[in-house]
Amino acid sequence: PPRGLLAPEALFGASRRNSAGFDLSDAQTLARIAAAREGTIPDAMPLTVSEATGTMQDVLNPATGERIAAVLMVDAETATRAVDDARSWDVPAAERAAVLRRAADLYEEHYGPIFGILAREAGKALPDAVAELREAVDFLRYYAAEGEAHAEAPRGIVGAISPWNFPLAIFTGQIAAALMAGNAVIAKPAEPTPIVAAYAVRLLHQAGVPKTALQLLPGAGRVVGTALTADARVSGLVFTGSTATAQTIARTMAANLAPGMPLIAETGGLNAMVVDSTALPEQAVRDIVNSAFRSAGQRCSALRCLYVQEDVAPHLIEMIKGAMDELRIGDPWALTTDVGPVIDPKARNEIGDYIAANSNRIIHRLAAPSQGFFIAPTMLKVAGINDLEREIFGPVLHVATFRGDQLDKVIADINARGFGLTFGLHTRIDSRVQEVSDAIHVGNIYVNRNQIGAVVGSQPFGGEGLSGTGPKAGGPRYVPRFFAPAAPPVPA
Ligand code: GLU
Repeated sequence: PPRGLLAPEALFGASRRNSAGFDLSDAQTLARIAAAREGTIPDAMPLTVSEATGTMQDVLNPATGERIAAVLMVDAETATRAVDDARSWDVPAAERAAVLRRAADLYEEHYGPIFGILAREAGKALPDAVAELREAVDFLRYYAAEGEAHAEAPRGIVGAISPWNFPLAIFTGQIAAALMAGNAVIAKPAEPTPIVAAYAVRLLHQAGVPKTALQLLPGAGRVVGTALTADARVSGLVFTGSTATAQTIARTMAANLAPGMPLIAETGGLNAMVVDSTALPEQAVRDIVNSAFRSAGQRCSALRCLYVQEDVAPHLIEMIKGAMDELRIGDPWALTTDVGPVIDPKARNEIGDYIAANSNRIIHRLAAPSQGFFIAPTMLKVAGINDLEREIFGPVLHVATFRGDQLDKVIADINARGFGLTFGLHTRIDSRVQEVSDAIHVGNIYVNRNQIGAVVGSQPFGGEGLSGTGPKAGGPRYVPRFFAPAAPPVPA
């Protein structure tokens, strides 16, 4: 069949469907979400086999700056004890798959408290929380289906280090894939978001994952991450986070360990989109605004640098300003909110300082609430991607223009930065779709749509170059990477 037109069974497998999601216009669903607003938030305690020791720390609501609960940040000795206690999950793959499917059902049943925690701990606007829970559930069912057919041996103990921007979906995806391959998993959630992680691990245990096969270690990256990376008994590491941290982990592993311990890393990007003069402006503008500002720009897939063909640029930029003005920034709990807060004071200060240092480039900027950790969506004028010093992980869109005869140079400049995560293209020239797709070096290309929100099973997600090692999450090569190398499986 032509590109992009695979039969559903080829994409999803006969035994699996993605989550139907949650209807935010349904009165009963809304009532359960409202009830979760009042619920107390449990502290995030480690879920380990032996005793956990460490120090208590506050967890803050990024929308208000208020303390919502506490977390026990474990020490390095606790990490070592967790490795002592870890045991591979030695049952038939079909049994593991059944447990992961049961966990997926439990996740869906608990949507009220999960949305409540995602909003209050991670500042997730409700539509983003809905999408995140769906993705987590999809990972559980997809990896169950993918792993069921395999009988290879696990690697042993896998450390899973996950990010705060998808504190449920990516956290769950890493764990589900490693568990489905039969490994013991030691999961370290991101520092700002341990509560949703603890909630999820309790559901996984309740579904039947043995406590020796899945332990949760909330703690500092420098303590827990370093202890797991340096422990020679840990035989695989899966990491999603910054490129700089992935490089540090790779160096530590190279210095400390026998060769062969794999690092699966999914890191940052300097993602671009090209809009040519044949694009449909209304569609392009909607996709630009969603790609740049949804989730407050805190997605590694988010659009950072937009290139607009100069013939249409003045008109298109005016339209982007208009669409930005329609965005509502504020309380993640409000059904009308489009843009919530950034994750913590450090992020707010770093992004705020960046915008201040580039104030001469501001084309458009909204207003943000002064309480809590908000950054107003901002559009900056640049000459091209080389004006971006680094990835700014927030709601900041850079815009450049190009002449019709400069497209090859634009693609070459984007490739030359060395990142390769997502890329967007808006055009109505069919041959251009093919040419640009062949020339651009990224993991995920999106044509005439937004460039965020890859769907498990149909849009495997991951980058190349400085953006990650592969294999792609939510794709057929992911689970096999967690098997022991003695029998490397080759997916069809
Ligand atoms: N998978 C997400 C998306 O497609 C991004 C993941 C991330 O930000 O790490 O938008």
